[in-house]
Amino acid sequence: MTLTKKNDTRPAPASWGLATGESPWEYAPAPEATDHVRIEPEYGLFIGNEFVRSKPRKTFTVINPATEEPLAKVAHASKADVDRAVRTAREAHRSSWAKLPGRERAKYLYRIARILQERSREFAVVESMNSGKPIKESRDVDVPLAAAHFFYYAGWADKLEYAFPHRAPRSLGVAAQIIPWNFPLLMLAWKIAPALAAGNTVVLKPASTTPLTAYLFADVVRQADLPPGVVNIITGPGEIGMELVRHPDVDKVAFTGSTAVGKMIARAVAGTDKKVTLELGGKAANIVFDDAPLDQAIEGIVNGIYFNQGEVCCAGSRLFVQESVYEPLIDKLKARLGTLRVGDPLDKNTDVGAINSAGQLAKVTELVESGIAEGAEIFQPDCELPTRGYFFRPTLFTGVSQSHRIAQEEIFGPVLSVLTFRTPDEAIEKANNTPYGLSAGVWTEKGSRIFKMVNAMRAGVVWANTFNRFDPTSPFGGYKESGYGREGGIHGLGAYLDVAGNGR
Ligand code: NDP
Repeated sequence: MTLTKKNDTRPAPASWGLATGESPWEYAPAPEATDHVRIEPEYGLFIGNEFVRSKPRKTFTVINPATEEPLAKVAHASKADVDRAVRTAREAHRSSWAKLPGRERAKYLYRIARILQERSREFAVVESMNSGKPIKESRDVDVPLAAAHFFYYAGWADKLEYAFPHRAPRSLGVAAQIIPWNFPLLMLAWKIAPALAAGNTVVLKPASTTPLTAYLFADVVRQADLPPGVVNIITGPGEIGMELVRHPDVDKVAFTGSTAVGKMIARAVAGTDKKVTLELGGKAANIVFDDAPLDQAIEGIVNGIYFNQGEVCCAGSRLFVQESVYEPLIDKLKARLGTLRVGDPLDKNTDVGAINSAGQLAKVTELVESGIAEGAEIFQPDCELPTRGYFFRPTLFTGVSQSHRIAQEEIFGPVLSVLTFRTPDEAIEKANNTPYGLSAGVWTEKGSRIFKMVNAMRAGVVWANTFNRFDPTSPFGGYKESGYGREGGIHGLGAYLDVAGNGR
């Protein structure tokens, strides 16, 4: 990597060890090449291992949020297409997939995992171009974790009887899977890998802004020689997602996205025998005690809220700092924000990429304006933003009170709200004062305090002295308005199985 001296007269943070007023050093551009990637001008629906036109033929355009340039046209599915995809998945379940021994299904999953690894660079580049996330995240987090999910669930495919002993596990049938735009490939893997391992077939609907890695995955499905109809992918707006949810021949619905749509889905399946898992929004508390290693905590806070531009359901968007360390922590945090590089997602040095869409940028902007109007104090580093694309500066709010919208609502952007506390009980009370309950973080050197906090917080995942750590073996999911059901681990496998004694 080349370092060049930036034409920047801002004083360097003291922690860099530079004399006051001396300019910091900046990285030279290091863009990832795109010449090895082929994005088709138009993608049809992926049904029965074929790309087919929607009926009637209709498309919409997908853009690169960092440049606002069009990337491809994709098919706009109709109600008839949803029916076609579900019928194809049903037939594949009946005639091939459910009949295969688990060890045979495992071979396909291992094959998919290995192909994802082989084509990882291509996937990372397309993911960053389509979603706006920095290439170092798609390269080092999204794609390797997606492959890891297929490896992990491949290992379970022939061991269902061991996972659920004496409970005669059986596949459910056809799974309808609706995924969001913040981790397009990873959410696809979270959904498809356990479904297939358990013997189900799937119809997946990606978010309208980010379908390209799903269609690249369709190519992997063909390369892995999966029987036709086991994986089907359809694109279209939210209403098409709802058609899929309502389809009478769907046995299982798995959704990740906003709480508002999650509630609509819960209402739509009420009274049916469809199994449902909902992974919805969050407003995670990240709690720093005065004995925490502050420099380590700063990295955890930054990773917690600025990773993936804060477009993360489990983002640590509410920071609770024990009063006695408030000032040194905020000073360090502001200095660290000044070092974040915002810009071209394809640049290997970029820390914060583009917001996924104009609509999401408008939502982040509106909530930040509400924070200012309600009296919180805003801090943003003085970084230059690209002139095109949907970018937003990493933002820090101090002087936030519990009633502010920025402390209550999911912003889904690079915006941190800082609050304070004096005692562990006060921290617990404030942290739990939210309709959500997806994740939380605790920073302290005291093991007994970690146990107290972890048990007291109503959150599906609590990280201690780290944040945003994911592993396929570990279940993930929420309490309260963050949804129900778990993905990942053996829990995630059970969500795709009919097991004796689960009341189905
Ligand atoms: P949505 O919940 O609308 O989108 C998630 C997925 O659901 C997309 O595939 C979307 O399709 C689909 N969808 C939309 N409406 C329906 C419907 N009525 N029935 C079935 N499926 C539907 O999230 P948004 O993209 O609108 O984001 C809004 C907010 O939601 C964000 O600001 C953020 O706060 C939160 N969010 C949370 C996520 C999480 O991981 N928990 C992920 C994404 C957003 P389409 O893209 O075609 O609209």
